[in-house]
Amino acid sequence: MTDPVVKVKDLRITFPTLEGRITAVDGISFEVPAGGALGIVGESGSGKSVTSLALMGLHRGTKADVSGEITVTGTSIVGTGTTEEGGAVPQAGDREVRAMRGNDIAMVFQDPMSSLHPQYTIGDQLVEAFRIHRPEATAADARKRAVESLDRVGIPEPGRRINSYPHEFSGGMRQRVLIAMGLMCDPTVLLADEPTTALDVTVQAQILDLLDDLRRDLGMSLILVSHDLAVVAGSVDEVLVMQKGRIVERGDVRRVLAEPEHPYTAALLAAVP
Ligand code: ADP
Ligand code: MG
Repeated sequence: MTDPVVKVKDLRITFPTLEGRITAVDGISFEVPAGGALGIVGESGSGKSVTSLALMGLHRGTKADVSGEITVTGTSIVGTGTTEEGGAVPQAGDREVRAMRGNDIAMVFQDPMSSLHPQYTIGDQLVEAFRIHRPEATAADARKRAVESLDRVGIPEPGRRINSYPHEFSGGMRQRVLIAMGLMCDPTVLLADEPTTALDVTVQAQILDLLDDLRRDLGMSLILVSHDLAVVAGSVDEVLVMQKGRIVERGDVRRVLAEPEHPYTAALLAAVP
């Protein structure tokens, strides 16, 4: 058995607000096996995105208070408390966490327009995403990789389209560009937070198919986050159902769909047309 690529233990995340601290994530634990696909579902505000950002190490240095443990491909993103032997849990430094982003785990967000800069060509943005992590790479190598990556996600004529600006693509194609950006450094884990929510239904299915293909062909692990259980149903093995920062149900996605144990899961299913 190889180690899981993602390990989360007793993760708790709170934020200060004017009304006092709010608990966004309330003690969750889960693992993603190498090559596996995990779905995280739950209604809006249940803590899915806060969890996702934590996996990327993006709550470090913010007002969020984060405790528990997160390990991504061996890098300890969060490590508080003590080990079973009584020592402090190790936690990686900022430099190590930055190196992990993109290389070990890459994140695709819901709205491709807010993740892409309108004033630069997508080629420039893909090249930049690569060279942050591979400063030794030549511009020509980075560009070649960008074309390959665009080709991989199904952008027609990638050698020409690399010179296009984000607004010259449809919503679905923009989401593909964003996935291509995530693939630039061959991440072990792709984390997609509501990747299809802004898209219409037929395009949604195409993006989910693409994520499936990438996982199979590249051997990546996938974490697919959605408010809609039906969206993750065909793409993941295991699903976590979150409510108010807690995991209220988890298991094989087919079992959860067919026989939800928690009333909240049943309600989520009933909400799907
Ligand atoms: P989801 O992605 O499941 O819709 P989120 O993870 O975005 O939900 O949010 C979980 C809870 O944490 C919500 O109540 C949200 O308002 C709160 N929250 C998220 N980010 C912050 C922040 N930076 N500061 C304060 N509260 C936040
Ligand atoms: Mg969210």
